[in-house]
Amino acid sequence: MLKLAAGYWLLACKASVSSACINARAFPEELIKNAKYIATPGKGILAADESTGTIGKRLSSINVENIESNRQALRELLFTSPNALAHLSGVILFEETLYQKTLDGKPFVEVLQENHVIPGIKVDKGTVDIAGTNGETTTQGLDSLGARCQQYYKAGARFAKWRAVLKIGPTEPSELAIQQNAQGLARYAIICQENGLVPIVEPEVLTDGAHDTKKCAAVTETVIAAVYKALNDHHVLLEGTLLKPNMVTPGSDSPKVPPEVIAEHTVTALRRTVPAAVPGIVFLSGGQSEEEATLNLNAINKLEVVKPWTLSFSFGRALQQSSLKTWAGKKENVGKAQEAFLGRCRANSKATLGKYAGGSDGGLASETLFVKGYSY
Ligand code: 13P
Repeated sequence: MLKLAAGYWLLACKASVSSACINARAFPEELIKNAKYIATPGKGILAADESTGTIGKRLSSINVENIESNRQALRELLFTSPNALAHLSGVILFEETLYQKTLDGKPFVEVLQENHVIPGIKVDKGTVDIAGTNGETTTQGLDSLGARCQQYYKAGARFAKWRAVLKIGPTEPSELAIQQNAQGLARYAIICQENGLVPIVEPEVLTDGAHDTKKCAAVTETVIAAVYKALNDHHVLLEGTLLKPNMVTPGSDSPKVPPEVIAEHTVTALRRTVPAAVPGIVFLSGGQSEEEATLNLNAINKLEVVKPWTLSFSFGRALQQSSLKTWAGKKENVGKAQEAFLGRCRANSKATLGKYAGGSDGGLASETLFVKGYSY
């Protein structure tokens, strides 16, 4: 398998002699090993990579000021949560957090590594509008990405995230937005691989709108198919990547459907578009409540069809919300907030194995986390 993948890479390099391929050849085994580890069944990813602006919105929801010490405190609460890291294989960090330490002076990166959790890094620089479209976007951050990846690798990161955003509308996503975002993801992915980082490829189709599940399925399929065409064109080593898609759900303004329906549509869309060479698919939660996201992931894993990849989580909001609310910025609440975080980690770990029986009737975990036109 290892030989095959490396051989495939060499073939790709011969077909188009580029310095990208020559540099990237130094890393295939490490990329494959790390991607495979992150996709370990029973484990998933915590997305704790909210930019300073986005974490500010989270903190203001609990009346906590958006200053470095409060951002550090929230991240320390999560990363030192007793037993929680056993359910995680990766944590995505924002640049500031990659270099932060616990109050006792231990780098967060070391805390994660000691617990067999691979540190990752958000490398995109957010979205900008594509001129002449109805508010569609492309993602920025390719300039100097190689140099930044080298710095992040030195600091201990071994995987990266880049979020591309597509929306569903009467004429959206446009072909232009699909192609621009697919090309951006592919350039990002190969630059990461050249510099030793496993790229998480994230084409998020937003849930905003009144469309039904079938529409979301059709758009998700078209978008993911375009992404894999671009990854192939750019000679990306699929064995050293992960996909982070949306689940296939009805739009935010449409009636909800049961987890089994979401599972069926989601797995069908992925089976039609994601090559078996990809070791893992790690879903974003996209504004679902914590409990909804877990139940849907569980149903996805229970579905009895051939699924050649691990199907797991890379949740931001759906792992942190109860914990954030319980903490409320107060030292005396840290223990309880860590218990809430452990509860979500454990539940999602079970869901990756299709063994989650459900747990929260109402309460914090059932609160919707949807935000219109969400940015990360
Ligand atoms: P949510 O799970 O909150 O949607 O975010 C995950 C993420 O990392 C989006 O880029």
